[in-house]
Amino acid sequence: MTTLDRRQLIGGLALALTAPARGLAAGVPAGVGHLRITVLDTMVASSGMDGEWGFAALVEADGRRILYDTGASPGMVLQNLRTLRIDLSDVEDVILSHNHGDHTAGLLTLRREFARTNPRALGRCHVATGIFAPRERADGKPNPEMADLKLAYEALGGTFVVHDAPAELLPGVWFTGPVPRAHNERNWNPGSYLSRPSGRIDDTVPEDAALVINSADGTVVLTGCGHAGVMNICERAHAILGPQPIAGLIGGLHLFLNNRASVEATGARLKALGVRKILAAHCTGFEPTWILRQALDASPADVAVATVGSQWISGVGLQTGVLARLGTAP
Ligand SMILES: [Zn+2]
Ligand SMILES: [Zn+2]
Repeated sequence: MTTLDRRQLIGGLALALTAPARGLAAGVPAGVGHLRITVLDTMVASSGMDGEWGFAALVEADGRRILYDTGASPGMVLQNLRTLRIDLSDVEDVILSHNHGDHTAGLLTLRREFARTNPRALGRCHVATGIFAPRERADGKPNPEMADLKLAYEALGGTFVVHDAPAELLPGVWFTGPVPRAHNERNWNPGSYLSRPSGRIDDTVPEDAALVINSADGTVVLTGCGHAGVMNICERAHAILGPQPIAGLIGGLHLFLNNRASVEATGARLKALGVRKILAAHCTGFEPTWILRQALDASPADVAVATVGSQWISGVGLQTGVLARLGTAP
């Protein structure tokens, strides 16, 4: 049994035996001293980089690195990595937050590119249960995208690790596995379906999963598209790490379709959960970002729109791009 297998097993058993309010890892000293998260793919980009409707980010925890999501077009993340002069050839683990193409499309390109230097690079892909469930499109035809991606990734020597419970991938860095949907946030797109023997049902993206990190600043949450609902995801972070403040919430929150009352209610709940700062990427929406800033009584420096290259850094907070902050010119 590998270290990873043991951690998964311990994680699954411990969560079943631990009251959620206390938290699976509650009381455990912060596992990550220095954390840096760099956005590699999102809607907005500063000069020299490109944005798109998608998401990817690089997590660096005390020097150990994991790629979270891979962008919406095959080459975009690789292009931005080159501009940012980031090399992923020593990164062995990658996460796909869920099955949608705006998070998965770069996987094969990135595996091919960095495996040329290191055969293990991006060779282990963590996903949550449900990502390979049979799906169909609105016209009733099967949607083979994930089955095709699995075959192609395995043909490149990659292995999928499917998690049905929280798993500690690195010390203090937890993959949530599927997120319980206590709040009926319904943050998924209409028109796609899960195939069931009794007929199709709405695709609720049951596999949607986040990273929650026990850092020296407090909990940091990284989410791709937020289909599980950002309130549910932050409550899952509390269930895993205990009810300490959520110092940073980073990624796509999928609020761009929500009305003002809904976003305000979400903001109030996030405030009650101790969310302090937000780097709002991908499908969060610009107006929802401003509403969340008001709900948290936060400053522009603490709730901002993510651009490609923007970061979360331990002890600093948000390092936003020039488009996401006021300048100094008179
Ligand atoms: Zn999605
Ligand atoms: Zn998305």
